[in-house]
Amino acid sequence: MPDDDAIRCDACPVLCYIKPGRTGACDRYGNRDGQLVRLDPHVLLDRAVSRGDSVVPFLEREGSWDGNIVPTFVTAIGAGTTYPDYKPAPFIISSQVDNVDMLTVVTEGIFSYCGVKLKIDTDRHLGPETNLVRAQGEPVGHVTTSEYGSQMLSLGGVRHLTGGSRHEGTVTCETLLNLCNGKAVELSIDDGATLTVQAGNPPVVDNVQEERMRVGCGSATIGMFAKQWFGKVDDVVVVDDHITGVLSEHQAGKLLGIAETGIKLKGRRSTPGRYFQVAEPGTAWGGTNIHDPLSILKDFNPKVAWPGLRLLMVSTTGEHHAYFELDEALHPILKDLPPALTESVARIKENCEPALCTVLFMGGAGGSLRAGVTENPVRLTHSVRDTLTRVTCGGAPVYVWPGGGITFMVDVSRMPQNAFGYVPTPALVAPIEFTLKLKDYAALGGYMDHVRSLDSLMSGQLRRHMSAHEANPWPLSSVKKQGEP
Ligand code: SF4
Repeated sequence: MPDDDAIRCDACPVLCYIKPGRTGACDRYGNRDGQLVRLDPHVLLDRAVSRGDSVVPFLEREGSWDGNIVPTFVTAIGAGTTYPDYKPAPFIISSQVDNVDMLTVVTEGIFSYCGVKLKIDTDRHLGPETNLVRAQGEPVGHVTTSEYGSQMLSLGGVRHLTGGSRHEGTVTCETLLNLCNGKAVELSIDDGATLTVQAGNPPVVDNVQEERMRVGCGSATIGMFAKQWFGKVDDVVVVDDHITGVLSEHQAGKLLGIAETGIKLKGRRSTPGRYFQVAEPGTAWGGTNIHDPLSILKDFNPKVAWPGLRLLMVSTTGEHHAYFELDEALHPILKDLPPALTESVARIKENCEPALCTVLFMGGAGGSLRAGVTENPVRLTHSVRDTLTRVTCGGAPVYVWPGGGITFMVDVSRMPQNAFGYVPTPALVAPIEFTLKLKDYAALGGYMDHVRSLDSLMSGQLRRHMSAHEANPWPLSSVKKQGEP
């Protein structure tokens, strides 16, 4: 039985009883003098004027609103959640933008089926595709397709959050929460690498911090730098797990008139100068498992090759490189890199972008969350589809997937820090705002009797003003239907 002076939080299905001075299971709500309060400040965004210090708190005011004239956007961060879903969202705020009556519905959504797409800029092999990704030993996702010099992990989702053991769900939720809130997370991949990943930071693979992502595949690297090698070396092999390039055979070399060298590579020749599968994937040269580049070469053709032939072997990041000259028996002998080639290797490095981790939160408002916006939920979906309603997460723009529901992705680095929370069901709590014209809100059956003005936020919860992220479009700029002038 709960204590007499405990109050019940009804903001999620856990329905905690909270004693005075204590917090509920998620630490988001507490009992303050018998009142249920949302403990984190409610975040309001002020339109950034090229501040250069985007999303840095610059003012914190408890329970006061000074009526300042800076355009303000009410985010859902700290706004609270209403439960069950048919209750109107915590804040339905009207505002005027360019003489148009606008409206923003804000709520901290509870996402039980959400996930994270994690892009890790590295050539290094992290693990076989489809293998499990683990945190604290629990499966929290899997390795998915590798694309354009980045390895992709898919984490979370309904099967890990709710479909496994309670511990698996809890660890998955904690992992997603930390990643979305910009914290570093340790992961391991079955039959693969161990990782430390953090949004906006370089990945650490098997205790080695990645510095740069590759300039392109081996073939692309040949295409980009062939001219710079012309006349300085007889052949170049760009070692790459995906496509290894050979200058003398490649179309780029042919057009420059580079002579055949009699070089022969292992692996499968795709087209001239482009080889697949020269080695196994790994964490060494060009995302392969080779430490000795000569291991991917066969003997030179003695009818074509000549003693003294100059060969550069280099990886797609320039991190690995070696220079050889053929001896009388046509065996490559390692030599110092000539100064004329030093510059081209440095140029490859220079053209590589810094390696980073990117965290995209993927959530869906296609379910019951819509009932807090309108009594006829499907009309919100149609309104988003018709671009009458803009969806934002903590004021950050989202990409709404085509197809059914309102399934969206957002780059967490464009959101204010610590915008995410959790409830122990387990599920992630994420801010979501719907902005549309007031007349469109009325037309889709919105809760018009719950519409309130910005000024009505004068008292109550702690509020924090922040500058909007300068790279984000202002979320209150007028919402227009596609094709509307
Ligand atoms: S877990 Fe948090 S939101 Fe849910 S009932 Fe408890 S205090 Fe309220």
